[in-house]
Amino acid sequence: MNVAQLITAKRDGRELTAGEIRWLVQGYAAERIPDYQMAAWAMAVYFRGMTETETVALTQAMLESGQPLAWPKGRPKVDKHSTGGIGDKTSIPLAPILATCGLDVPMISGRGLGATGGTLDKLEAIPGFRTDLSVGEIRKVIAEVGCVITGASAEIAPADKRLYSLRDVTATVPSIPLITASILSKKLSEGLDALVLDVKWGSGAFMKSRADARQLAESLVRVANLLGVRTRALITNMNRPLGRMIGNGLEIDESLEILAGLGPEDSRELTIRLAAELLLLSGMDEQLGSARNRIAQVLDSGEARERFVQMVRAQGGDLTRDYSRATPRELRAPRSGFLAAVDGEELGFVVIELGGGRKVLGDKVDPGVGIEMLCETGQHVRAGEPVVRVYARNQDSLIDQRVLAALTWSSDPPVSEPLVAEVIDDPAGVRK
Ligand code: URA
Repeated sequence: MNVAQLITAKRDGRELTAGEIRWLVQGYAAERIPDYQMAAWAMAVYFRGMTETETVALTQAMLESGQPLAWPKGRPKVDKHSTGGIGDKTSIPLAPILATCGLDVPMISGRGLGATGGTLDKLEAIPGFRTDLSVGEIRKVIAEVGCVITGASAEIAPADKRLYSLRDVTATVPSIPLITASILSKKLSEGLDALVLDVKWGSGAFMKSRADARQLAESLVRVANLLGVRTRALITNMNRPLGRMIGNGLEIDESLEILAGLGPEDSRELTIRLAAELLLLSGMDEQLGSARNRIAQVLDSGEARERFVQMVRAQGGDLTRDYSRATPRELRAPRSGFLAAVDGEELGFVVIELGGGRKVLGDKVDPGVGIEMLCETGQHVRAGEPVVRVYARNQDSLIDQRVLAALTWSSDPPVSEPLVAEVIDDPAGVRK
């Protein structure tokens, strides 16, 4: 076997065998196959696609390039993955909610990508919080607390780390089979029993159209179930930021509100819904209604918040110390009307410009900057009313203009779109 033959096969539309895919992935992870050949193969996949059998083989080979976590019998292991959205902090309250409800959540998470923030950057707004736990530390925190949120170590799907960086610079990221294998090789390395996926569509999401989001969700759900992990996807709306806060420290504050049983309705609702789906998928509950009630109870009693405090402490963080929040300034509505749309992607880029994200690899992230929405889409405001608070280190009228230009006003109420647009299941269910 040689790499040029596999590139030719893919270019000409022949299905690769699982053995050929494994050989390619192993060779690339071990640096025997050079970037230029792998880039040519990824481009062939980008244009030709992959069959479901090939996608399963690619996911499995990438998973096996590392050392997936294996757990002794005990509480079910579950997780959630979101394709990323502006203001999406649901992972932060969701993990302790589920740990309080009897599930273990060994969550391996990522940093900001494009305009969207990353869970690890958000948690690092908490002074001392560590996101570089070893496998031994992950096991210890799971045993003591039941939930952990950390970054991928060298043992977690190293082939994806290499391939993702290559795809990033060769315009081969937006390929459904490659995205499927990339996401699932990392998530399934956690040794899960059940997984829920939040596949977002809209202006602030990776997938701009609902049809593309559905296609990705179907691929993820089928491949994960074929690989033995009970998986369901929700297609959710990202045509407006989720919740009120965008920015690392501000999103921790909002997560704490959700954990106190409060918080903005959309952010709280999505967190509860995703957590409830995992109670169903793991067999802890049979009805969405009773799962939701159980979650409302652990939020209202303060147990979920206490579990979060324990997780933060176990990961070295100190919630009694505050991050340094930048000075806020209020921006006012330029006209009277209904807030019809919010360009979340633009607000995400503004937060990066303020220092809340990275422009180049290695940039230091400022946890104290961001944006607070003071009104929701569909709400009517009068000209001159405050609509946004910008937390910034400096005055900058260009930033303020960009923020206001990201808001669209209308004289009539906009049509409201549901937060959860669809649920994608695999009718054949889990296999293996
Ligand atoms: N996120 C990932 O982890 N991988 C992709 O390919 C795209 C988004």
